[in-house]
Amino acid sequence: MNFQYWQPQIEKMPRSELEALQLHKLKEEIGFALRTSFYQSRLEAAGIRNPDDIKTVDDLRRIPFTTKSDLREGFPYGFLSIPKEEVVRLHASSGTTGIPTTIYFSRDDIKRWSTYMARCIFGSGCTKNDVFQNMIGYGLFTGGLGLHQGGEEVGMMVIPAGSGNTARQFKLMQDFGTTVVHATPSFLLHIESKMKEAGVRRENLSLKRAFAGAEPYSEDTRRRIESLLNIDVFNSYGLSEMNGPGVAFECQCKNGMHIWEDGYIAEIIDPKTFEPVKDGEVGELVLTILCREATPILRYRTRDLTGFFTEPCPCGRTHRRLRRITGRSDDMLIINGVNVFPSQIEEVIMGMKEVGNNYLIVVEKEGALDRLTVKTEVGPNIFMDDARPLNALKERIRETLQASISISPRVELHESGSMPVSEGKAVRVQDTRPKDV
Ligand code: AMP
Ligand code: ZN
Repeated sequence: MNFQYWQPQIEKMPRSELEALQLHKLKEEIGFALRTSFYQSRLEAAGIRNPDDIKTVDDLRRIPFTTKSDLREGFPYGFLSIPKEEVVRLHASSGTTGIPTTIYFSRDDIKRWSTYMARCIFGSGCTKNDVFQNMIGYGLFTGGLGLHQGGEEVGMMVIPAGSGNTARQFKLMQDFGTTVVHATPSFLLHIESKMKEAGVRRENLSLKRAFAGAEPYSEDTRRRIESLLNIDVFNSYGLSEMNGPGVAFECQCKNGMHIWEDGYIAEIIDPKTFEPVKDGEVGELVLTILCREATPILRYRTRDLTGFFTEPCPCGRTHRRLRRITGRSDDMLIINGVNVFPSQIEEVIMGMKEVGNNYLIVVEKEGALDRLTVKTEVGPNIFMDDARPLNALKERIRETLQASISISPRVELHESGSMPVSEGKAVRVQDTRPKDV
């Protein structure tokens, strides 16, 4: 295979040099962290008053984990380490209600992020001759702008198509000869299932590759998309707390995602004991960012379950490879790429006085896409034989939920006391999507 590297010296750097670089950048990042109100006291409590108190990368383990709720607690500026006038952008994580987790970027942070993305994109075999249709959400979500910037850095022609609207996606593909797309795996399958109906023939498209991420999928799903669309599919991993996409990405070997270790320190821990797992075993991924000055985040518990491949990659990159994400160590649902916590839904519906006590969140596949239904009882004073107020209530629940979780659910109302009450711990989520990961 003809491998190409965006930054060959760094991508193929010998491990000893890479680890020395990590230490250097970790100290720099600790310096940024010491300027934030959140970490100042935390680091001091761990005996770290200046970056030179960090002697080895392992010293990082003296610092407690950072969690999503820490980020919320620090909202809005507890994690900001540079003067506000140096910030050029913010992103926020998808699907959070109330207090979002907000990440700030300096101009250099954006440049660094674009370069990591360019490494990913170029490493998949793309060049400036490619036409890149980015079929994922723009806005506060990092997937759109993240890949967009990386595509421009590589020099591809980037079409900021955004998600949804299959008819328009097909038109763009045909008009501009799209060669590479980025989408969730479910949207790729959805697109394929609509091709015939839209009168689009595969041989009239120039597609060669797809980047697929934002939600878990299996090797079987990858193969299915590859054979249906006759393209190469590359797994793309990231999360907003760590910039977004560009954390780990597959090379042309398509066998695990290289995590850019000069930009991130990865630990895999047992989510129950918090101890590191044995090399190669699956556990929860904990990440420390080394490439962002505006918002340093140390030892972030991603809740994503994965492990390292232990053998080196034939491509020659020395940065280790992560396995496919197989699940989460919390109850977060990923619905068509959007993160939703059951507690967010509960907060909305339980806040409405017309709603009864019992509810059920159902997630299922409808065609290639995910479908969310919220079933809930109405309060005892609401009668099921009067359709008009019921429909109005349904619509109000749907709208309020959509405003909070950015997904429009189907809402089903049931008579007070009619939904089965489970004994013991209530089962509030029924996820019937095939677990094929
Ligand atoms: P967000 O912060 O909204 O970008 O969501 C990040 C989360 O999406 C991650 O923590 C993962 O749970 C999930 N995710 C992103 N990329 C992938 C991927 N390639 N495979 C599985 N899950 C992913
Ligand atoms: Zn490789």
